[in-house]
Amino acid sequence: MPLVVLDRDGTLNVDDLAFITSAEDWIPIPGALEAVAKLNEAGWRVVVATNQSGLGRGLFDVATLNDVHKKMHKLLASVGARVDAVFFCPHTLSDGCECRKPLPGLITRIGERFGAQLSKVPVAGNTVRHMQAAYAAGGQPHLLLVGKSAQYTRDNLPPDLPPNTTVHSDLHAFADYVLNPSKV
Ligand SMILES: [Zn+2]
Repeated sequence: MPLVVLDRDGTLNVDDLAFITSAEDWIPIPGALEAVAKLNEAGWRVVVATNQSGLGRGLFDVATLNDVHKKMHKLLASVGARVDAVFFCPHTLSDGCECRKPLPGLITRIGERFGAQLSKVPVAGNTVRHMQAAYAAGGQPHLLLVGKSAQYTRDNLPPDLPPNTTVHSDLHAFADYVLNPSKV
């Protein structure tokens, strides 16, 4: 089964808070969950890779993070979508871990867990650090120009983007590209 890796905050849910510290804070971006359904229907497995340093900072605990993800999975299911797993980095920068994006650890682990060859795995999100993690892990970086990256255009991209990054207007455009790359 082919695999896609997505970021969470700013890609699936609205990212206008510094931290999502409760299930109530987790609000899906209009259309984003339907884009996941589109991928699922075409036989793609979707896995999330997310930095959650709020854990390491003590802003919320794992039980709360599980509640947040319970809501996410429920809302996904309500539109016929499914995320197979959520890999998260609970650390802060000072922990010096290898999983905090832009480092590749989370995505490398996903590749191992799902037996995927990362060079064939599209990794989509709306931040440069998610793109850098994708690149460092050997995956395919796909930047979405939404949320904090909505200010950018194809002619005015954020600095430090990996050279092989493909750019899309949103998650639906990304899904369409993945499902039919020759048409875009
Ligand atoms: Zn980490």
